[in-house]
Amino acid sequence: MDCLFCKIINKEVPADIVYEDSKFLAFYDINPKTPIHILIIPKKHILSVDHLKIEDKELMGGLILVAKKIAGEKKLKGYRLLINVGRGGGQIIDHLHMHLLAGKPNKDFELRILNE
Ligand code: 5GP
Ligand code: ZN
Repeated sequence: MDCLFCKIINKEVPADIVYEDSKFLAFYDINPKTPIHILIIPKKHILSVDHLKIEDKELMGGLILVAKKIAGEKKLKGYRLLINVGRGGGQIIDHLHMHLLAGKPNKDFELRILNE
């Protein structure tokens, strides 16, 4: 499958991995918008939130718990979780992913979110 994030999961493309288990992978974003910018993905190839099925309910709960675990390990004081959905929602990579953003917000990123 020609999917960048599936290639990262399969270690065909390198990434700075933060967390991995049988269902999820987390790695640093290549172009960080905030001082800490991590992407958390399910290993199952799901295109976007719009493509979720009812049986993915538990997986999505797990995704958020991975974010909480990473935030705890990194002792983050606060953070934001963001999922872009579809091109209109700013999604560029067609493999469902959650952004974990922490640190001083990048103004351009803030404006981009507000303007889109
Ligand atoms: P989206 O806009 O689809 O929600 O977010 C995709 C994110 O993937 C962007 O923040 C972008 O910087 C990141 N990204 C794109 N290509 C790569 C890559 O090859 N490696 C890593 N680590 N991140 C990537
Ligand atoms: Zn994929």
